[in-house]
Amino acid sequence: MAEIRFAGTGSTTMMRAGKIVCLGRNYIEHAKEMKADVPTTPVLFLKPASALIPDGGTILIPSISNDVHHEAEMVVLIGTGGTSIPEADAMRHVGGYAIGLDMTLRDVQADAKKKGLPWTVAKGFDTSAPIGSFVRPEAVPDPHNLDIRLAVNGQVRQQSNTRSMIFRIEQMIAHISSIMTLEPGDLIYTGTPEGVGPVAPGDTITAELQHVGSLTVSVARRS
Ligand code: MG
Repeated sequence: MAEIRFAGTGSTTMMRAGKIVCLGRNYIEHAKEMKADVPTTPVLFLKPASALIPDGGTILIPSISNDVHHEAEMVVLIGTGGTSIPEADAMRHVGGYAIGLDMTLRDVQADAKKKGLPWTVAKGFDTSAPIGSFVRPEAVPDPHNLDIRLAVNGQVRQQSNTRSMIFRIEQMIAHISSIMTLEPGDLIYTGTPEGVGPVAPGDTITAELQHVGSLTVSVARRS
């Protein structure tokens, strides 16, 4: 699926998903647990839209990995595109919010980091981008003050608040659009708080973002 779904009352609107721009190390405590420097400009990488799976989907672990990690993230939908968008105008370009997972092949990523190679395989494999239903910006009182939580088989692993993000949404949109044009349907995965860890076949992952919604996916091996 490469479609954006909106939750809510009345009709369901659908939009085609574009590119997925992800921030790395956007929470200080996560940068620390990864033994990485806290960035002074956003760390960016991409996932293909083909990596998206909806609520209720199954993450398929590819045979090249034995260490797949969950990363719960607030996801920002671009509703109105732009190039070099100023911070002051950035929030007008937001079309919605959802809870998402940036699933990561941690062993493949560690090997890529060691060799100075891109993260594409570790981050862009099929099913690596579970996404919940979007809500319109009007439904979210303050996107920089939302509790975010992830549980595996009912056990809480990640619990934080979007106020702990290093870079705010305005800064992300301004920075990203100064490098690559943002288009309607593009998604920004805004980074994960601390508490990332492995999942195994048979696990159920549930993630929630306050005022936005929840997402439940299962985990299996790719055959
Ligand atoms: Mg992430």
